[in-house]
Amino acid sequence: MPVYRAPVDDFRFVMHELLEIGKHRDLPQFEELTSDLVDDILTQAGKFCSEVLQPLNRVGDEEGCTFENGVVRTPAGFKDAYKAYCEAGWGGLGAPTEFGGSNLPIMVTMAVAEMAMSANQSFAMYPGLTAAAYSALIATGAPWMKEHIAPKMVSGEWTGTMCLTEPHCGTDLRLMKTKAVEQDDGTYRMSGTKIFISGGEHDMTDNIIHMVIAKIPDEDGKIADDLATVNFFMVPKFLVSEDGRMGARNGVSCGSIERKMGIKGSATAVLNFDDAVAWRLGPKPKPPAPGETRSSSEGMKGMFGMMNAARLGVGIQGIGLGEVAYQNGVAYAHERRVGRALSGPAEPDKPADLLIVHPDVRRMLLHCRSFVEGARAIAMWTSLLMSVARSKRREEEREEASLISDLMTPVIKAFFTDMGFEAANLAMQCYGGHGYVRDHGMEQFVRDARINQTYEGANGVQAMDLVGRKLGRKGGKAPFALFGQIEAWLKENEGDAALTPFTKPVRRGLETLQKATLWLAEHGLKNPNNAGAAATDYLRMMGIVVTGWMWGRMAKLAQAKLAEGAGNKRFYDDKLVSARYWMERMMPECAMLMERIEAGGEGIMAFDGAA
Ligand SMILES: Cc1cc2nc3c(=O)[nH]c(=O)nc-3n(C[C@H](O)[C@H](O)[C@H](O)COP(=O)(O)OP(=O)(O)OC[C@H]3O[C@@H](n4cnc5c(N)ncnc54)[C@H](O)[C@@H]3O)c2cc1C
Repeated sequence: MPVYRAPVDDFRFVMHELLEIGKHRDLPQFEELTSDLVDDILTQAGKFCSEVLQPLNRVGDEEGCTFENGVVRTPAGFKDAYKAYCEAGWGGLGAPTEFGGSNLPIMVTMAVAEMAMSANQSFAMYPGLTAAAYSALIATGAPWMKEHIAPKMVSGEWTGTMCLTEPHCGTDLRLMKTKAVEQDDGTYRMSGTKIFISGGEHDMTDNIIHMVIAKIPDEDGKIADDLATVNFFMVPKFLVSEDGRMGARNGVSCGSIERKMGIKGSATAVLNFDDAVAWRLGPKPKPPAPGETRSSSEGMKGMFGMMNAARLGVGIQGIGLGEVAYQNGVAYAHERRVGRALSGPAEPDKPADLLIVHPDVRRMLLHCRSFVEGARAIAMWTSLLMSVARSKRREEEREEASLISDLMTPVIKAFFTDMGFEAANLAMQCYGGHGYVRDHGMEQFVRDARINQTYEGANGVQAMDLVGRKLGRKGGKAPFALFGQIEAWLKENEGDAALTPFTKPVRRGLETLQKATLWLAEHGLKNPNNAGAAATDYLRMMGIVVTGWMWGRMAKLAQAKLAEGAGNKRFYDDKLVSARYWMERMMPECAMLMERIEAGGEGIMAFDGAA
């Protein structure tokens, strides 16, 4: 059976030593964030995740969710674990205190989310989506919703969902058919079908608050094929009156749940809206002026905020799965005896050496570890930027933080989940055939990690978002800001000979990334298929370079700590080994990716669809 031990030491390293959060007390939600408080939260969350959530991971996979007569049952133990999760206050960690939350910064909520995802992704999705939903409700809901509904979601008494996908459209939401018709009392009646809704129906709470997008028809009752008429709505499973009383069942019901490859403990529901009472969130849409084209309505802003939070959450799932798979892979490599070390037997008195002696096994494990720890540092750094963006600091600093965190969002979603899947797959490979069979639980990690590349916007679509929208925003300010930060770090450290093994590959990587960015600006404008064909490679390159820079920073810190004779020498030595792996084994990929980008889109577009 797999095990999980929360990487509290690594979180502490990133938060206290790398990012020095003690120096950011001026940021919102950081005012009272003492290191003791952070350490206590990390330790308690880690304990809960390994002791309560992780043992249920296998149960969730074996039993899955069941659907009978409209009722969905979660796997044995989920309901009690959910109750314990809520009682401990984990669900409301990031919510403002006025709603019953702990008002902790996103950095802390992301750390706890990663632990929960490692321990049990299926379970963690219920409170994860609830947090995204209540944040959207707090941002866009009417006062009565904030007073009576949001606190129940923060406490976990009610869960939340995010309903976008329909049978014929997941990526291209312009095509959605679900509609909401305004009533005299200001509410709406919603009809349509949403599919693949995570946590859309379950038995863990009395009520579920669905956050739904739907189109408002024109005066003739027609719905347009664009985003301008799409609005954001709240649709509770059981109606809630404006004074907070729960009423009759609303017209939303579960048609079925999906049978799927992984995350079987997470109920993925088909939801039918039959004249369901819906409340619009955000301002009332104005009809477009004659000749005016609008890409999306004001009301969609709340939904975009929720989608961004969810994209980061999914990126964190990539780290979580990579971490737990690595932990088990490395443990097995220290148990299983196979063959002999190439340089001569490591333990001649034993019939064979341990797996860990083999360079290729080490390669697989280091691939996982250098990704997981590098990605964790990026996730924490990005979340710090998000707090800076909301702070009272100088406008230029806030703007730069906002641009870079926005740029990193698709990278975190897609690069982390691609790498998380790679890591789970490699850790399973360390088990040989024993990884492929169910006994050790490794194949579950691979199956669970796979969905992260697809939902919340397929990774190819994230790459298009990066290349097509994020790069060019505000005249290309975001990539320039990011490159400027990496350049500044290089300038500061290139003179240090001990850091050359790290600065040199980062310099080369940065130059390649800049070249790729210019190539896209020139050739993507000439022919958008060039940009489309390059997008995935470009996103991966950006992920590799930013992780390389993060490893450079961590290596510098580790060297300094070792030089000053800090305790925990092993920890810093390990950091240098992982940093070196990334420099030697991942950074060279940039040159190959560049070659592919420069090949342009012609060859790909020559593919005859009819073939
Ligand atoms: C287990 C599970 C849970 C989910 N949970 C939720 C949920 O809670 N709420 C919700 O609303 N949805 C949810 N989804 C839906 C999910 O977000 C969509 O499946 C996903 O966004 C892809 O949409 P689609 O399936 O319609 O694929 P399509 O839109 O048909 O796309 C198919 C493939 O084509 C490619 N593609 C499409 N468009 C482009 C483009 N413009 N550029 C490049 N490539 C492109 C991508 O590779 C994509 O994978 C869930 C799905 C699953 C399987």
